Amino acid sequence: MLIVLAAAFGLCLGSFVNVVAWRVPRGESVNRPPSHCPRCDHELSWWENVPVASWLALAGRCHSCDGRIPVRYPLVELAGAALCALAGLHGLAALPALAVGFTTLLALSLIDLDCRRVPNRVLAVGLALSVALFVAGAAATGDWAALGRAVAGGLVGAGLLGAVHLASPGGMGMGDVKLAALCVLLLGWGGLRLVFAGLFAAFLLGAVVGVGLLVAGRAGRRTAVPFAPFLAAGTVAVVTFGPALTGLYPALG
Ligand SMILES: [Zn+2]
Repeated sequence: MLIVLAAAFGLCLGSFVNVVAWRVPRGESVNRPPSHCPRCDHELSWWENVPVASWLALAGRCHSCDGRIPVRYPLVELAGAALCALAGLHGLAALPALAVGFTTLLALSLIDLDCRRVPNRVLAVGLALSVALFVAGAAATGDWAALGRAVAGGLVGAGLLGAVHLASPGGMGMGDVKLAALCVLLLGWGGLRLVFAGLFAAFLLGAVVGVGLLVAGRAGRRTAVPFAPFLAAGTVAVVTFGPALTGLYPALG
């Protein structure tokens, strides 16, 4: 039940991720003006703005100008639902913080893929909200130990990545280091082992795809490979599947 509710909420968060990923790189406000078609400026009424269902009902076209609405929109909404359902596996205390953290990672991955940068504004809001929700979750359930783990994990992981950044300033951008701070916070909730496993998974994924692109001739040595999606995927995978390996899921146990 918790997971179904989380998924429904995730559809709406995914819808908001679409707005953020489109507007923030363009320097637009995320709440004004209301949702509109980027092609004809037609303002969307509520029934054109329902996650996934509206896209299906409209057959992927704008009601006003008949312009195509990219399939990416419903896919991102479904991804938001999936991420929040995964967050729901970790029980009520961690759910809100993980849901916000995961969807922030989704938004940042899309923006990094679109324009090779990680906007501070989105990252800062996501990080602050995740910390606040972790604190609220700990207060509501009295599970302060998990909060301690998250903070300790966040500090240790951020320290490690800061050291990597200082040792090889060209190797890892400051944007990636800041993004990793959010990742290790989410990983830290599950314990320090997950922090190391998550970072390892992210670097491994990044290295495999980076080498793959080099071999395929798609990327020169100097081409910036967007690292955010790998950090995000590694984090979500390890937060989700790491505890299962050690039987730590409160929601299922
Ligand atoms: Zn239109």
